[in-house]
Amino acid sequence: MRTWTNKSPGDLSIELPAVSAGNVEIAIDRACRAFDPWRKTPLEQRGAALKRAQALIARDQRELAQGIATEIGKPLKESLGEVAAAIAKIDLAIADANRYLADDTAADNVHPNLVRRRARGVAVVIGPFNFPIHLAHGAITAYLLAGNTVIFKPSPLGANVCAHYGRLMREAMGDNIFQIVQGGAEQGQQLVSHPAVRSVCFTGSVAAGRAIARATVDDLGKDVALELGGKNAAIVCADADLDAAAAAVAEAMCLTAGQRCNSTSRVIVDRSIESDFLDRLRAKLRDYVPGDPLLESTRLGPVVSQSAKDRYLAVIGSPGDWLVPGSSPQTVAGKHGHYVLPAVLRVSGDVLQSSVFAEEIFAPVLAVTACASDQQMIDLTNGTPYGLTASVFTADRERFLRLADELEVGNVYQNLPTTFSPSTLPFGSLKSSGNRHPGGRGFVRFASDEQVLQMKP
Ligand code: NAD
Repeated sequence: MRTWTNKSPGDLSIELPAVSAGNVEIAIDRACRAFDPWRKTPLEQRGAALKRAQALIARDQRELAQGIATEIGKPLKESLGEVAAAIAKIDLAIADANRYLADDTAADNVHPNLVRRRARGVAVVIGPFNFPIHLAHGAITAYLLAGNTVIFKPSPLGANVCAHYGRLMREAMGDNIFQIVQGGAEQGQQLVSHPAVRSVCFTGSVAAGRAIARATVDDLGKDVALELGGKNAAIVCADADLDAAAAAVAEAMCLTAGQRCNSTSRVIVDRSIESDFLDRLRAKLRDYVPGDPLLESTRLGPVVSQSAKDRYLAVIGSPGDWLVPGSSPQTVAGKHGHYVLPAVLRVSGDVLQSSVFAEEIFAPVLAVTACASDQQMIDLTNGTPYGLTASVFTADRERFLRLADELEVGNVYQNLPTTFSPSTLPFGSLKSSGNRHPGGRGFVRFASDEQVLQMKP
């Protein structure tokens, strides 16, 4: 991938400026040279540089959000939320750095001692398209505060808006402490496998995560944090507030057109209330009509690309009991784009054999199945290799806690959408959905190494 041009998924007549792939060797050489002075810069000054970045991002907030909406197709309201989260993240990251990077000592050790944190070196952050700025930015801020120099390789699908973010970060941080290398899998592989790179934070698909794990496995001193895909279930118990559950499922299915790692893509519902719940879900889904992502009123934008739309069309074209059939309008408000409607498939029998029930699709497509016991709900939720998020809709807190204890996922919600992932808490995954919890609070610990000093008087 050398040069490419993105078209706006909400209006294919809009062509964004062409982007060229960056030079990995040059970027790594610069990052290596900038590392030593940066790691020796006091934490307070590193924090001050990030506060400058925060002010610049806040200044350009609306333009950045419009950039996300244009290039990715994420509705403007959500895009504004993404940029606001990136701005807020800087204060949370500074608070984390002050907490976790502080020196410690063990009073009960035989010798005087010091436990302190060291920067790792050059860090590479590879981001996905669906949160082109915010997800990478969480790792970037933690790495920088811990004293690492950072190279960010954004998704090629969000190259222009990430270039804007990159200009602001570079202006605030100073030369070579933060850099952007544009490109695709090729540049990603070159970056992660380079021996000078000491830490990698990757957010994206399981397939790419595996390729990165394979490329780095022989370098035992290189840390690799992975945030990967999900097949997130909403469990709806018989005692749930069905209206609220249906609203939360519809929202978590349609935000970012179902292209969030934590989107709800499965519902496991108690058989006794199944048809009541499905009636309410159908009603809620009527609120999600495709619209121009650049309008603040739009709740359902397009999917990101022709290949994402083709994947959606192949799924909704497969045989099965489609309760809501889905479709892809050619135009919305007179604009040609990759627009799609929500689709709901009812599955029964050996449901884990259904690819719609078991595999990540990354579009507003939901598989629903009915169950007769809590144990069945647990088994089906745990029956895929993914382990990102799950929601349990029940009025009973004890039941929620019991179920949460059995569910093999990193984040469990009671009566909240599976997409409810604020930056104020840790966020991460189990099983094939990832490791290390790089997504939320506390990532700064991963961005640094512990060094233990003992001093005999
Ligand atoms: P993707 O894996 O196609 O691409 C992600 C990034 O990896 C891009 O920058 C891409 O250029 C790069 N890349 C692709 N193949 C690579 C390789 N072999 N080596 C190195 N880099 C490579 O993912 P996407 O389509 O951009 O994003 C969607 C996926 O990301 C979904 O699976 C979604 O669930 C996941 N995701 C996970 C989280 C999370 O927090 N767990 C958050 C957002 C997205």
